[in-house]
Amino acid sequence: MTLSMPINEKIKALRDIVGPENVMDSLPALLIYARDASPMRGKIPIAVVRPGSIEEVQEIVRWANETKTPLYPRSGGTSLWGAVPLVDGSVVVDMTRMKRVIEINEKNLCCIVEPGITFGELEAILARHGFRFLVSPENGIGGTVGGNFISHGTGWGCGPYISNQGDCVLGCKVVLPTGEVVTTGTMANPKAHGHFYRYAFANDLTGLFCGSEGTLGIVVELALKIEEMPGAMGFAAFGYDDIEDAGEAIYRVRRARIPTIYAYLSPSWTMNMLFPEKAPWQHVVKFVIEANTKEILDIELNRLIEIAGRKGTYLGAELAEETWRERYRWVGLFGYKLGMRAVLPVHIPIGEIAVYFKKIEEIASEVKEKYGLRVGAGSFMCDRSMVVVVVTYFDPSNMREAENALRAWNEIKSRIIDLGICPYRMGGLWADQMHKLGTYYELLKKLKKALDPNNIMAPGILGL
Ligand SMILES: Cc1cc2nc3c(=O)[nH]c(=O)nc-3n(C[C@H](O)[C@H](O)[C@H](O)COP(=O)(O)OP(=O)(O)OC[C@H]3O[C@@H](n4cnc5c(N)ncnc54)[C@H](O)[C@@H]3O)c2cc1C
Repeated sequence: MTLSMPINEKIKALRDIVGPENVMDSLPALLIYARDASPMRGKIPIAVVRPGSIEEVQEIVRWANETKTPLYPRSGGTSLWGAVPLVDGSVVVDMTRMKRVIEINEKNLCCIVEPGITFGELEAILARHGFRFLVSPENGIGGTVGGNFISHGTGWGCGPYISNQGDCVLGCKVVLPTGEVVTTGTMANPKAHGHFYRYAFANDLTGLFCGSEGTLGIVVELALKIEEMPGAMGFAAFGYDDIEDAGEAIYRVRRARIPTIYAYLSPSWTMNMLFPEKAPWQHVVKFVIEANTKEILDIELNRLIEIAGRKGTYLGAELAEETWRERYRWVGLFGYKLGMRAVLPVHIPIGEIAVYFKKIEEIASEVKEKYGLRVGAGSFMCDRSMVVVVVTYFDPSNMREAENALRAWNEIKSRIIDLGICPYRMGGLWADQMHKLGTYYELLKKLKKALDPNNIMAPGILGL
């Protein structure tokens, strides 16, 4: 077979692998797969294929190598950073049929899942066994475990010691770009009694795939850490007049190792935009903490209120509790009030929250001036960093505004990387910034070339 194989023959070959009902080639379907949840427009793929087993994934990958067809893995399609086909003639591999819970291993405190399961689905299944996972994104209803792991997902559950989904994964099974299957962690040895230690057998190869965004293979299984449900949970919110005080409070709470599983900062300028009916706002910080017993919780909650309340006003429990209760709908409820969102999720150091927030506020007002678009931000604790989500709002039905949003998005991106702020999921959006990483980027390219000699896996993503 050759590169010039006609499209209809390619589609026939894919149908032979997964069955005709699992191949889509109608334009309306393909248009959806050319986009994610960001404003970035991808190339329209020639087909979407939906494998149902590891063997089918392997066959697709081998076929793609023979025909030199670019493959773009995809699960929920809810990425915000241009996880879209970047070259012509590609096939999207939709992993949402592979969503089984393969095992809940109580002895190893681990569950093995297929990548296409959503957090909402997995949460319900684990809860029936008295367990939970550790980290989930704000859109746990649409986002999958596989898509989250492979893109350094963060969110609910992050706090001291846990910075992202990668911290919660014991091992994975991946179909490599050449079609072989590799298992990482203890299960690299088929005789091992399950997944119980990630850093087994030389290099941390789980880490090689974590953050690779589909460029190094297709994840077909993940072993996630699970824990028993917490004995008690507590909630508290605080208001601050000064961003320095808000940042200092979060830093002090982290430093004191208060067991937060959520610490969220909404700056006043964003709150005033989102909820003008209640303006003027202070900078609001919401905390959710957990403990094994009510007694320990009370001690930790008192410590939290003492530390966070030193320069802030205690606003009660309700704001934080409501956010937690609505955690998978929260962004949906409020995030799109001002229009569609061009989002830049980045990390800043936890000890310099105010420094970076001031810079981001400056950029926000310049963008407003230049493009007539509003920019907001929110931020949550991820161990020693804060994820900051910088959002440019626009009206997608207004072509001029949508174009301006793309320009603003690209401009903000380039400016914040030059401030030393760290983007952690790059997709197609940050590809043109990778050269700024020097030898690090060169090494990524060498790894990619070694594992994917035909460059069939997600070409262009991560600038690879
Ligand atoms: C309103 C909203 C709120 C969000 N909040 C958060 C948040 O709090 N935290 C957060 O981390 N994210 C957040 N996200 C982003 C995203 O929804 C999550 O990260 C989600 O878990 C990604 O999963 P997905 O299935 O949608 O991935 P997709 O968008 O389908 O894919 C993500 C990336 O992974 C690759 N990929 C997917 N499946 C595989 C696989 N099996 N093997 C190899 N590569 C694969 C894709 O090629 C792509 O590069 C949010 C998005 C929205 C729209």
